[in-house]
Amino acid sequence: MYVNGVTLKNRGVPDSHKLSVYAGTGGYDALRKVLQEPMAPEQIIAEMKKSALRGRGGAGFPTGLKWSFMPKGVSGTKYLLCNADEGEPGTCKDRDIMRYEPHRLIEGMIIGAYAMGATAGYIFIRGEFIEPINIVEGALAEAYAAGYLGKNILGTNFSFDLYVYRGAGAYICGEETALMEALEGKKGQPRFKPPFPASYGLYGRPTTINNVETFASVPDIITKGGEWFLNLGKPNNGGTKIFSVTGQVQKPGNYEVPMGLPFRELLEMAGGLRPGRQLKAVIPGGTSTAMIAGEVMMDVTMDYDSISKAGSALGAGSVIVMDDSVCMVRTVERIARFYMHESCGQCTPCREGMGWLWRVMHRLENGQGREEDLQLLLDVGSRIEGRTICALADGGVAPVVSSIKLFREEYEYHIEHKRCMISMGEH
Ligand code: SF4
Repeated sequence: MYVNGVTLKNRGVPDSHKLSVYAGTGGYDALRKVLQEPMAPEQIIAEMKKSALRGRGGAGFPTGLKWSFMPKGVSGTKYLLCNADEGEPGTCKDRDIMRYEPHRLIEGMIIGAYAMGATAGYIFIRGEFIEPINIVEGALAEAYAAGYLGKNILGTNFSFDLYVYRGAGAYICGEETALMEALEGKKGQPRFKPPFPASYGLYGRPTTINNVETFASVPDIITKGGEWFLNLGKPNNGGTKIFSVTGQVQKPGNYEVPMGLPFRELLEMAGGLRPGRQLKAVIPGGTSTAMIAGEVMMDVTMDYDSISKAGSALGAGSVIVMDDSVCMVRTVERIARFYMHESCGQCTPCREGMGWLWRVMHRLENGQGREEDLQLLLDVGSRIEGRTICALADGGVAPVVSSIKLFREEYEYHIEHKRCMISMGEH
């Protein structure tokens, strides 16, 4: 059974990005409840914990717990940031929330700011998202005019200012500390952790950062309760999740479904495979996550714990479906090129290793591979993993290693015949 949706509830309603439409469907009621009942910040955080909402940007960290890390009783500015730098290949869900439900995101951020005592916030939006940037800026202006943002919100003592910041196109700025560096006007590259942002974040101040979809889940959690949200999904995996389904499906798109939906049902919703095709493999959470073989994936449910048990990660929910017409060597060569290009260059294993992975993949794809190249790829991968400042490098290794493990014979065919077994019809 499917719910109508939480974060994309109004998608399809004309002018859903406008305040009048959002308010007409209960928009900003959660903020009123929080400020006028009022709810204590601790009550909000308790409700968030009960909901089992986990960070929708990729890490899946429990949101209520993250909010509880923000220090209390400190003087000076605390910041709340929204990571809208959606750059994971295959992901396009945050873009749609900003296009269709910008006020849901803004309301979620205001509630979060109140719960954590933040007085200033930024929505860091991927620079290429021209339409979402314009829509979110328009929604912010409406929210200020209606008294939902700025000084003394809804006549209370609570004040919060929120700004849009336009990113400059670097994938690595989706990493939370690189995003903060970029916001400060520096080169966007990740910081060592600890210290974590809750103690040393933007401008060295306590900061919390969440993804667009995470914030957009907050208003309904407040109006309907954490328990309600939890029960939409499954234990430890509350609520709904938007999956961006791409690849060889007949109806690619963003599907908001309850957490724990069987993958086979999600595939059906996306129109299934083309006639006569077999499912070969799925990348379940964006190209930084390991591939899962098609036959395994058909028995997996779409939640953090099940995907992790199957050997990969739910990530940001970008589900890339590959049928038996896909050449794995070519696919992974293309992915490896992306990570080589996007490495920020701080760590030697990542800066040099991503280049090595791509160069070896490139020669394999071009019929110049050597027998020892497969072991070389695995060796280089093992010397990169766990030895870098951020997770980009591990993400770049995952598709290479998992594809060799699952489709070794395809790599061997490339080496032996200097061409692809798919194009030769030998699959
Ligand atoms: Fe930069 Fe790569 Fe190191 Fe991350 S792992 S900090 S992207 S060099």
